[in-house]
Amino acid sequence: MEQLDLWSGKSRVSFAHEKTRLIPFAKKGWYKHPPYCSYAGKSFKLERNLKMLGVILDDRLNGLPHIEYTGEKMLRILNRLTIAKHKRGLSGKVLKVLYKRALERILVYAAPAWWRGTVNQKNRLSSIQRKVLLAITGAFRTTSTVALQVASGIEPIDLVCDLDSAWYDIKKNHADLTLYGTRVEGSKMEVAESAPTHPSTWTTVQWDKCITNSDLTIFTDGSKIEGQVGAAFCITSETDSQEHLFRLSDHCSVFQAEAVAIQEAIKWRKKHRPQSICHIHTDSLSVLLALQNHKISHHLIHRIRSHLDGNINLHWVKAHIGIEGNEAADRAAKEAATKDMVDVPLGIPQNSIKRQLKDLLVSEWQQRWDKTSENGRVTHGIFPQVKRSRCLFNSFDVQLVTNHGLCPQYLRRFNLRSCSCRCGEDERDDLHHYVFSCPLLGHLRRRIRPGDQILKVLSHPLLREEMRLILRTVFLNERNLFQEL
Ligand SMILES: [Zn+2]
Repeated sequence: MEQLDLWSGKSRVSFAHEKTRLIPFAKKGWYKHPPYCSYAGKSFKLERNLKMLGVILDDRLNGLPHIEYTGEKMLRILNRLTIAKHKRGLSGKVLKVLYKRALERILVYAAPAWWRGTVNQKNRLSSIQRKVLLAITGAFRTTSTVALQVASGIEPIDLVCDLDSAWYDIKKNHADLTLYGTRVEGSKMEVAESAPTHPSTWTTVQWDKCITNSDLTIFTDGSKIEGQVGAAFCITSETDSQEHLFRLSDHCSVFQAEAVAIQEAIKWRKKHRPQSICHIHTDSLSVLLALQNHKISHHLIHRIRSHLDGNINLHWVKAHIGIEGNEAADRAAKEAATKDMVDVPLGIPQNSIKRQLKDLLVSEWQQRWDKTSENGRVTHGIFPQVKRSRCLFNSFDVQLVTNHGLCPQYLRRFNLRSCSCRCGEDERDDLHHYVFSCPLLGHLRRRIRPGDQILKVLSHPLLREEMRLILRTVFLNERNLFQEL
C-alpha cells in the first residue's frame, strides 16, 4: 500500500477510494476475519465476490458463485424458450441447437479460469444442465440425468468444461497434457504465425481452371497413404522434366501436404528459374480457397502468399480424370510418402488436436454410460452407444426409452398410487405393456406386433405414430384403464 502511495504521488495519479475493493484470499480455506486494510486513512470495502470480465471471483476460489450466477442467467433464458416451446411450437430439436450454440457457451464461459472439476462444481453444473435436458426432451421429472443426456445426444457438461480447459491450455501454453488417461501432445501443435501486415499490402490471389503448357509447367500433389504423408511436384518443360519428393511427419494432414507441395515448387522456381513465367497446377481446391481468403490462419498459406508474384499463375485441375501431369504428381506424392526419412517436419494441425479432444470426450462419455448402474439401464438396453447426433424430443418417445411415463408400474414405483391395469394380463403394467400387448388398446395396434424391438418402433415413422397415439390414449383415459388395488 505504501509503495502504491509513493508511486501515485510520483506519477500524479490518484485512486478513487469508492471504486476500490478488497477481496481476501487465504492459503487454506478462507478468512473468517479478513485483515483490515486502509489506504490514505480510509478503510477498503470488503467483498467476498468480485466480478471481473464476466467471471465472478470468490474468496474461496471454488468457482461456485460463478456457476450460480451463470446458471441463473441461463435459466432465465431457458424459461422464455420453454414458454416458446409450449405456446409457439418451438421444437425440441431447435432448442437443442440453441442450447449447444448459446446456452452451453454461457455456462462454460471462461471455464479455464474457474473450472477445477470438483464434485461440488460437477453437481451444480449437472443440476443446471438437467433442467435444459428436461425442457428439450419433455421427459418426466424422475428420469435420470444420464439417460436424458444419451436420449438427447448432449454430452455431460463437466466433460465440456474439461475439454474447454484442456484446449485453452494447449492453445495458450502449448502444454502436453493427459485427458482421461490419454496423452495429448499439445507442444507439437503447429503454431499459427500471424504476421501483422496491413490489408492494403495484400495482393489478391487468383486462379483458374485452365491447364497451361509453357516453358515452366508444374503439377503439385499431396497424399496420405498408410499413415504416412508425402508431397511432390513435377516439372515438365520443353527442355527437361523432373520430380521432387518430400515426406512429411506422419501426423500431417493432406491439406498440409498439398500446401507444402506448392510451397516447395515456388521455392524451387525462385532458386533455379527466377525470371521465367511459371504455371502451377494443383487439385486441392481447399488450398486455393485458403490462399484467396483474407483471414489467413495457417502459416503455410501465409508463406505461399508472401512468395507469390505476378509471374506465378495458379490453376486448379480436377483430380483422377487422367490429366497426365496430375497423375504423375499423384504417383510421385504417393512415392514420397514411403521415403525412409521425413524431409519436412511440421506440427500437428490444430484441427487434428481438436478432433482428438472431441473423440476423447465421446469415449469418456461412453465409458461412463457403460458403467451406469441402475439409473438408465432400460435406456442403455435400447441405446448402448452414446451419440451426439441423436435427439429424442417427443415426450412419448422419451417416456418409452426411459420407461418413465404414466402407467401403473410407474405410479407404484414412486409411491404415487397403488394400482394395476384393468386387463389383469400382465403383472408389470409398464409402458411396454400398453404399447405392445395390453388387450384394452388392441384396437389401436395396427402395425405394432408384441415382439417388436423398441428401436424398430422408434425408427419407423408409422410405428412411431401408432406408439405415440397409444401412449396419448393411456394418458387421456387413465381412469378407465387403471384400477386401484
Ligand atoms: Zn393391460
